[in-house]
Amino acid sequence: MGFNTTMRVRLGLLTILLLVFVGCSAPPKRTATAPAAPAPTTALEPAPQGVQQVAFLDVGQGDSALITFPNGKTMLIDGGETSEGVALVGKLRRLGVQQIDWLVATHPHSDHIGGLIQVLKTFPVAEVWDIGMPFESPVYRDFLLAVRSARSPNGARPKFRVVRRGLTLEPAPNVRVSVLAPSEPLLKGTRSDPNNNSIVLRIDAAGGSFLFTGDLEREGRVRLYTTRPNLRADVLKVAHHGAENGTDRAFLNRVNPTVAVIPVGAGNRYGHPHRETLALLQGRHVYRTDLHGDIVMRLGADKKLQIATTRAAPTQPTAQTKPAPIVGMVIGNRNSKVYHRPDCRSLPKPENQARFRSAQEAERAGYRPHTCVLGE
Ligand SMILES: [Zn+2]
Ligand SMILES: [Zn+2]
Repeated sequence: MGFNTTMRVRLGLLTILLLVFVGCSAPPKRTATAPAAPAPTTALEPAPQGVQQVAFLDVGQGDSALITFPNGKTMLIDGGETSEGVALVGKLRRLGVQQIDWLVATHPHSDHIGGLIQVLKTFPVAEVWDIGMPFESPVYRDFLLAVRSARSPNGARPKFRVVRRGLTLEPAPNVRVSVLAPSEPLLKGTRSDPNNNSIVLRIDAAGGSFLFTGDLEREGRVRLYTTRPNLRADVLKVAHHGAENGTDRAFLNRVNPTVAVIPVGAGNRYGHPHRETLALLQGRHVYRTDLHGDIVMRLGADKKLQIATTRAAPTQPTAQTKPAPIVGMVIGNRNSKVYHRPDCRSLPKPENQARFRSAQEAERAGYRPHTCVLGE
């Protein structure tokens, strides 16, 4: 199985690389107004003019992405832990960053804002986006202090902006950034209010769209649905480092991404990404910063997504997530559409139980495995 699954991801990668070659060697279309994007190399390098680039940066157990718009303007979404700050600045330099036009702190957790402190000390920053939620932590305090002592490209202080759903931006011609969450008032009393109030934003560029979800969890998703947002995107930055509460089938169906990116640290103590999340992502191209390193995507006028990574994944990312085969009858929950082993400790109430002769029969009926089936 190892061999086949490894091959499959290689083939997946090859398909994408082939697109790169097709994109490069084909004569430019007569209708094209901008150049086709040259393929990114596996090393971080500046984005060419006219190309939309998104670099998902490996910051260990944290989250960071640099967006370079076709006109060269930059948006940095999150920056990993404080300990990653110097390395992050080095990566931004290699990507050709001279200033940050929009610095987005999706929420005040240290694995998202810590590294931004060093960025604020190094580069001119025009505007800082924050959810403005009261939050007590030494790292968030240092972040706010760094914002206050940072400088913008015109020598003044960066503009500090508390953002809410409905804010839109046209950072470059034909590119739109839309803030989908949080809504006013912020959620309170959820499992994690900072996570559930994460800034969620989509970027629509010529030929492709990206959805950034911060650490949004279930309560935040439910709130998001009430605003009837357009969630469909070609590339999904998977929420909450692939935690079980960051993704579910309904959400994936709404976004329906071709490519999913999980920012996650190798051997992290949270067990991210969760195997159930990986199982849900089967059949899509999955990139993980713990396996692939930095992941650089480009969109040019040829409307082909080109992807390069600093590391080749050693194994198929979803190989270890394949549910162990289960033999015999299983018990489903009519409400959650999850099925369990009969000896599972969290069986549904008898009135909600649906019995199936096999796991296959349950899956044909639209049920998905509970973690007890996945071997936990
Ligand atoms: Zn996080
Ligand atoms: Zn968080």
